[in-house]
Amino acid sequence: MTAEERKCTLCNREKPFTICTGCGVPVCEGCSRFEVIGSGCGCVWPAYYCLKCIDDPMTNPNAALREPLK
Ligand SMILES: [Zn+2]
Ligand SMILES: [Zn+2]
Repeated sequence: MTAEERKCTLCNREKPFTICTGCGVPVCEGCSRFEVIGSGCGCVWPAYYCLKCIDDPMTNPNAALREPLK
């Protein structure tokens, strides 16, 4: 897998900036969202999600905790 040849899976225009932690697709900076995930044992780690996974409680544990956007 060569990152330079690939395009962001969501907008299909920008070069991938990172890999979605949830679904593993390459996404550009504009289509990725940063989250800090807590594991429940006191450990947290940074993760990037695509715009689909960021709101999916099955993928992003933080989505279930957050107030719905109005
Ligand atoms: Zn994009
Ligand atoms: Zn994703």
